Amino acid sequence: MSNKIIIAIDGYSSCGKSTLAKALAAQLAYVFIDTGAMYRAVALYFLRNKIAFDDEVAIVGALKNITLNFSYNAATLKSDMILNNENVEAEIREMAVSQKVSEVAAIGAVRDFAVAQQQAMGQQKGIVMDGRDIGTVVFPNAELKIFVTADPAIRVERRFLELQLTNPNISKEEIAANLQHRDLLDTTRERSPLKQAADAQVLDNSKMNREEQFNLALQWALDKIQH
Ligand code: C5P
Repeated sequence: MSNKIIIAIDGYSSCGKSTLAKALAAQLAYVFIDTGAMYRAVALYFLRNKIAFDDEVAIVGALKNITLNFSYNAATLKSDMILNNENVEAEIREMAVSQKVSEVAAIGAVRDFAVAQQQAMGQQKGIVMDGRDIGTVVFPNAELKIFVTADPAIRVERRFLELQLTNPNISKEEIAANLQHRDLLDTTRERSPLKQAADAQVLDNSKMNREEQFNLALQWALDKIQH
């Protein structure tokens, strides 16, 4: 498999994009990048340092002090988000960050900061990247673009099962409200709104299990790699 490609996976919150991207990357021996983790880490930094989301000077100053890295975690078989040498993987998944991340991700300077790093990571190809604007903005020439969708009630249910493990008090109502809030902000923002790229393959996984999704996406990837 010498012909390395870029695989861009976009879609709404909690559609299983990262799970699919991670499995594809492992199968193809590609790099997997969860770009949502980058926006979550920036949001965490802003919250901790009380950066006002409308204070452009403070935002530009804060971004200069942020270094993001991914570090492979052999226990979870995925990469953890490292913010200025601190492992913040657990904290960025908490509701406090989920509630604010879409506001932070709508800021132009934040997007410039994240997108430049994402594009640099894809220079050698051989990458699977998931997010909201990967096929439209980060890699508009990606060889394979997948747009993942799922029934909203099913997304809430899946997210609930996942978050309950670390937060037993979480409610389905809280999760549903957060997903709706993020999807609304992500699809209506001025800069790089979430939308399906014209040349994306749609994968509606409402009625598919992980293996079925993986097999379909892998077939799409192999078709591109081999042609
Ligand atoms: O993928 P995840 O749900 O962790 O992303 C968190 C948030 O980061 C999204 O709701 C969205 O606001 C933002 N995001 C983005 N562009 C990306 C990836 C994530 O705006 N490429």
